[in-house]
Amino acid sequence: MNSIGIIGGSIIGLSTAEAILEDYPEAKIVVYSDQFTPHTTADVSSGLVLPYLFGECDNVNTLKGWMDMTIKQLSNVAHIDEEASSAITVISGYKLWKKKPIETGEPFQSCFLGFREAAPLELSQFSADGRYAHGEFLTTFQCDCSKYLPYIMKKLIGKGVQFVEKKISSLDDIAHLGHSIVVNTTGFYAHLLTDDKEIRPYKGQILIAKAPWVKHFFIEVDGDSYIIPKSDYLVVGGTHDADTSSILNKSTSIKIWKEACEMLPGIRTGTVIGERLGIRPGRSSVRMELEHRRTKCGKDYTVLHHYGQWPCRVRSICALGKRKSSIIFA
Ligand SMILES: Cc1cc2nc3c(=O)[nH]c(=O)nc-3n(C[C@H](O)[C@H](O)[C@H](O)COP(=O)(O)OP(=O)(O)OC[C@H]3O[C@@H](n4cnc5c(N)ncnc54)[C@H](O)[C@@H]3O)c2cc1C
Repeated sequence: MNSIGIIGGSIIGLSTAEAILEDYPEAKIVVYSDQFTPHTTADVSSGLVLPYLFGECDNVNTLKGWMDMTIKQLSNVAHIDEEASSAITVISGYKLWKKKPIETGEPFQSCFLGFREAAPLELSQFSADGRYAHGEFLTTFQCDCSKYLPYIMKKLIGKGVQFVEKKISSLDDIAHLGHSIVVNTTGFYAHLLTDDKEIRPYKGQILIAKAPWVKHFFIEVDGDSYIIPKSDYLVVGGTHDADTSSILNKSTSIKIWKEACEMLPGIRTGTVIGERLGIRPGRSSVRMELEHRRTKCGKDYTVLHHYGQWPCRVRSICALGKRKSSIIFA
């Protein structure tokens, strides 16, 4: 059996390892990563299964298929595994528009567990100044990666997967370590290992706040603000800047809080307890591609590039990953 080296120890890397083992329980897998949970971008994410900032080349029907599969998979895991069920929850909330969009109607409506247009009275309840002209209320899944990643990592260790903390400087290095198959799940940082010119940063700065009375999410579609409860705190966002610096901007944090308080005045009495940032892997579409390569020393190996997605696509991507793994094992 070929030996597989996965670069990237976050949600896509670990889910890929899991998917490969479902098809090939005997597979030998080593995961190389310079960061593991709680230091990955996925740990920063809100983990909502809700298409957001998807690429212009992503086909809506393909995304719908991935969403359906994702929701099914998350639901299965949450039902059969008590430990996972603390990471995977069902959550409801609002998408809000200050200006009524010309075309209303959510393209992913059929994927959600529940969906309806918000009533005017409902919209006036949380923003006293009547700032929202249109709203949608929906129910979906949420995967809290800071709980899910430790769970899945433990499961993989139990199945013999090895984890190595290491920064990889070239794909060839993994082939030289004896792996004939390399899976590249490095998210935004894939641009450092490949010549992919398409990948670009969508930096997200967020605040962590305590306001335990907020149970729903609120996302301004024609603005930047969002408030999303996770199991232990609120994520208050945010930005999606074309910026790669890892420095938190104080004035951005102040702006995020001010705008969130305007969106939902009820959180004013909450407490900001932290700030975080992560870089989303922006791309016109997900890269799921096989590449056959040869090292300078003449060693042939196969790379499965597997990046440019967000966690909500995780399991469905893995289902695709399974098909790809059949190709690479064939
Ligand atoms: C503020 C914010 C909010 C978000 N909210 C949501 C949301 O609600 N819903 C949603 O679906 N998505 C959300 N996302 C997006 C989501 O976090 C990412 O899409 C997701 O983390 C991608 O997972 P990944 O495994 O591909 O990459 P990452 O999580 O970025 O992990 C990449 C891994 O590769 C490793 N790595 C990279 N380069 C190397 C190298 N050279 N050598 C060794 N290891 C390497 C890293 O250490 C890391 O472990 C959000 C993101 C941000 C920043």
